[in-house]
Amino acid sequence: MLFTELGLSEEILRSIAEQGYTDPTPIQAQAIPVVLSGRDLLAGAQTGTGKTAGFTLPILHRLSNRTKPGPSSGRPPVRALILTPTRELAAQVEESVRTYGKYLKLASMVMFGGVSINPQIKALKSRVDILVATPGRLLDHVSQGTLDLSGVEILVLDEADRMLDMGFIRDIRKILALLPAERQNLLFSATFSDEIRELAHGLLKDPAEVEV
Ligand code: AMP
Repeated sequence: MLFTELGLSEEILRSIAEQGYTDPTPIQAQAIPVVLSGRDLLAGAQTGTGKTAGFTLPILHRLSNRTKPGPSSGRPPVRALILTPTRELAAQVEESVRTYGKYLKLASMVMFGGVSINPQIKALKSRVDILVATPGRLLDHVSQGTLDLSGVEILVLDEADRMLDMGFIRDIRKILALLPAERQNLLFSATFSDEIRELAHGLLKDPAEVEV
């Protein structure tokens, strides 16, 4: 299997080639077609399997193919929201979005706690198509009225098991309540406890399941 067989756009294939990657990893080969099809996904994958590109590549493809007419005034909405348990992972995921999206006209932003909120508020005044965030700081922005999630088309919970271990379940439920009902949901987890299964069951509609 080659990356060129997955249905990704030329612009995305160019950035993948620049990374020196020719073959998708098993999680990428399984997850990318599912995400491109618009279906919900439940994915079992550890760090190091290439899972990040497994969701960032098809999200970039979908968003760049479906440009939405912006509102007549004001900033266009956030279209993809990727939640991660830690700031390190958030930064790494957003770096991957930037790398693979370098030939596309999509804007991304990373947001996490433990740093001043003001530069983030300023950054949110510009267009953000893809937002990578940790749950707590995301909710701080929502309560300050600086972030609107009503236009989110794709949601990713990355390392969902770690998010639950770190006590983020209440925050996640609050965030889910802010999103439009009609959207695509992707859940990545290394392990599957009853709690993860319950979260997945409530979140995902008829998901494809992949595991590596
Ligand atoms: P991840 O599991 O997403 O943290 O990725 C693990 C590492 O694998 C990262 O350093 C990626 O840059 C690298 N990687 C991702 N996809 C591929 C691929 N198809 N071929 C070779 N390396 C890759």
